[in-house]
Amino acid sequence: MDYPKNLREFDRLFAHKDACLRFLETVRWGNHFQCQRCGGSEFWTLSTGLRRCQNCRFKNSVKTGTIFESSRLPLKMWFYAIWWISAQKTGVSALDLQKDVGLGSYRSAWLLLHKIRHAMTQADRLLLQGEVEFDEFFSGAQNKERLFVAVEFSGLKKIGRIRIEKCQTSGGSLEAFLNANVAKGSTLHTRKNPMELGKLGYKPGIVKPRSGQVLPRVHLVTEQLERWLKGTLHGRMEAKHMSSYLEEFVFRFNRRTAKSRGLLFQRVIENAVRIEPASYQKIVTRPS
Ligand SMILES: [Zn+2]
Repeated sequence: MDYPKNLREFDRLFAHKDACLRFLETVRWGNHFQCQRCGGSEFWTLSTGLRRCQNCRFKNSVKTGTIFESSRLPLKMWFYAIWWISAQKTGVSALDLQKDVGLGSYRSAWLLLHKIRHAMTQADRLLLQGEVEFDEFFSGAQNKERLFVAVEFSGLKKIGRIRIEKCQTSGGSLEAFLNANVAKGSTLHTRKNPMELGKLGYKPGIVKPRSGQVLPRVHLVTEQLERWLKGTLHGRMEAKHMSSYLEEFVFRFNRRTAKSRGLLFQRVIENAVRIEPASYQKIVTRPS
């Protein structure tokens, strides 16, 4: 699939007004169109860009059931915002997005940013495995947020993929986090009780300080997270959106070695057509 590799290619690829729609159709349906109502695969393309099912006559929109559904913002603006967010090395604030993409209000920029962050989240659901460092730490406004962090080993000293989530206050949350993020049978290097980990299906690792750090990988990642939170969000950090910030950070971190920013753009679009549309209400009340 042809995705833009730089801004010039972005402009060229999406110059025509229908190009964004075609791009979405390719990402979502490829050669396997399915009618949203009856599952039929034969269709006529209407002049409006909709696909009319030859079986049940239903008009299918490529935007239905995606984050683009019922948005008044033109697709090209969406694409440009996604491109712009993907192209930033460190992430963006709603204020930056409003100014640089030229959006009318702070509120619409904020909403757009959160919807795109939401699309970034679903990207990587494969569990961490092998050797993994795990710890808890405090971050966010006044360091009040208790977070879980897991960091996969890659070779002797390098860092593989990471996961960071807010720690829920209810009991059993350690188990929930590990179940959702780390494959059973992995070796966990942590300060937690090895007996407890054994019961959860993990092998206890050996924790020994290296250059002063008990868990050097976790330490490196949390340092970067702190810098990112302070630098990118310009102090506009809201506790209720902590999960959303973490999702963006983890998404970027896990793709830090990706060769092309354009590939990042494509991944976000792929997620955007796969996930449920998030309404404003859902975003502001989303459980963390
Ligand atoms: Zn149909």
